[in-house]
Amino acid sequence: MNQRANLRFVFFAKVVLVLEKIFLFSVDLEDVRLGIPYGLQYKDRLAANTIAYLNWLRKHTFKCTFFTVGNVAEKYPSLINEITSEGHEIASHTLSHIPLDQHTPETFKADLSQNIELLLKAGAKSVTGFRAPTFSLTEKTKWAYRILKELNLTYSSSVLPADNPLYGWKNFGSQPRKTDEGILEIPMTVGNFGPLVIPYGGGVYFRILPEFLISLKTKTHTSVQNPLLGYFHPYDIDTEQEHFMHPGLNNSKVYNYLMYYNRHKVYNRLETLVKQGFSIMTYSEYVGKHLSI
Ligand SMILES: [Zn+2]
Repeated sequence: MNQRANLRFVFFAKVVLVLEKIFLFSVDLEDVRLGIPYGLQYKDRLAANTIAYLNWLRKHTFKCTFFTVGNVAEKYPSLINEITSEGHEIASHTLSHIPLDQHTPETFKADLSQNIELLLKAGAKSVTGFRAPTFSLTEKTKWAYRILKELNLTYSSSVLPADNPLYGWKNFGSQPRKTDEGILEIPMTVGNFGPLVIPYGGGVYFRILPEFLISLKTKTHTSVQNPLLGYFHPYDIDTEQEHFMHPGLNNSKVYNYLMYYNRHKVYNRLETLVKQGFSIMTYSEYVGKHLSI
């Protein structure tokens, strides 16, 4: 190939690479029962729901990332093995799901090191990514990036780039970017719905918003620089879970009702995204793509 043809090829390859509809579907692998008093009296549904996700991913030959807390890795090593043997990625979701603002840099470093150790012991091939519990990485806790770097992680998906009563980093920006410490942060996808800014790609919002509104937004994610970030939990698809008050909701019956709302519709909505042309990949694969453009 002469130099001109070579340049044309590189340009074409980059355009193809850039114009890819990427859905960063992920599962936060945590046992919600551990967050409530006497939670273990309720049925253990974590493995069954995780296997249901694995079956759906296998059907489409998609690989994704499971952000896994240490106590899950310790309790379900065979599940972690199944996840990794199917080619999915295991990343960190801390040792026991304590938000970053309840840590000092020292306690966070100890927590994260133990989490990584447990994930590797349970069968993770390597651990390069991190998600903060409840997206608690904010301007006040950005010291966490230094710790991620010190422990050789390369990316994070921990920021809600909007105002939020709990956590949020409004000025972070809506697209993935490298932090000063060299960590690629892939923030949660948010969109304007009237006066509200909502992370519509996963969790409770993906279930409660009308599907046509979600589709209007997801169609705008047309490039590698602007992926759609999806965050799901084992319970998001669980139609058989007993009813109990979920943690972190201030005992609000309305919020708790929404925790169970439309769980049976999640697969259909995921299928709609596949029909829109989205492909799912692990976050580490995405990081490689992002850094190469
Ligand atoms: Zn979580």
